Amino acid sequence: MRAMEIREAGGDFTLVERETPEVGPGHVRIAVEACGVCHSDAFVKFGAMGKLPRVPGHEVAGVIDAVGEGVTQLAVGDRVGVGWHGGHCFTCESCRRGDFIGCTNGSICGVTYDGGYADYVVARAEAVARIPDELSAVDAGPLLCAGVTTYNSLRNSGARPGDTVAILGIGGLGHLGVQYAQRMGFRTVAISRGADKAALATELGAHDYIDAKANDTAEALQAIGGADVILATAPNGDAISGALGGLKRRGKLMIVAAASEPLTVNGFALLSGKTIHGWPSGSSVDSRHAGRTPCASARSRTCGRRWRPSPSSRPTRRSPR
Ligand SMILES: [Zn+2]
Ligand SMILES: [Zn+2]
Repeated sequence: MRAMEIREAGGDFTLVERETPEVGPGHVRIAVEACGVCHSDAFVKFGAMGKLPRVPGHEVAGVIDAVGEGVTQLAVGDRVGVGWHGGHCFTCESCRRGDFIGCTNGSICGVTYDGGYADYVVARAEAVARIPDELSAVDAGPLLCAGVTTYNSLRNSGARPGDTVAILGIGGLGHLGVQYAQRMGFRTVAISRGADKAALATELGAHDYIDAKANDTAEALQAIGGADVILATAPNGDAISGALGGLKRRGKLMIVAAASEPLTVNGFALLSGKTIHGWPSGSSVDSRHAGRTPCASARSRTCGRRWRPSPSSRPTRRSPR
């Protein structure tokens, strides 16, 4: 099979020919149809995570073509995908509490084992999410990391329909975050630097747009009543710190993109009950939900093409969970 691998830290992607991997017990083999490109692939390329050589890619969408011993819930021909969550141990404290994405022995597709920049991926069965029939592989791929991360953080943020939710950053995560937030019934505010993202934000469903280059983000948010939740999708410590003042009392800052620089937080700003949270993507069932809920019409930008949000979504024909 063909695979694109990183052989050394900082090295180029190299197209290689490899043996098609055999499927072992508890695993499935996926014939890859599409794989999204995620900023976190840089961790592999620069040797910051996992061993090399490695085939990156953790937004994998395809069809199962082989099933390992002991796998009963999946079959050859099933349309499935794998995201950042690449498997869990079932025995650590997090797993015993049902927090599979927090597994202390967890695997990461494309990081701790070879991922989707190849013709085939062998993945642990518990890491696999079914893809709804109406969702193409190209559209499903990015939902398995960027999509589930924004969707799952928003649905666990405590925000309710009608609340004001601001999406900070309109990039790979943020453009999906805007679409999910709008479809979840939030008053959705998109924030980015410059005026050039305003039209895109409106097209994706944002009710308001704040140009963070021309305005103070916190003041602009307070001018429209403040945000119940700010979802920080841009890995920029200054931008995240600067947005904190835009929360309402008891508002919540949810961080899903890791900024390399530290955040600056004035403790007084938190005394009104504001909180800061991080959120770690989601497990396979979260990915399944990210692709099939009313947000199933969310579309991703792939290879420079921008997909318009579909005005409607259809129910899936197959809903095992
Ligand atoms: Zn990712
Ligand atoms: Zn575990």
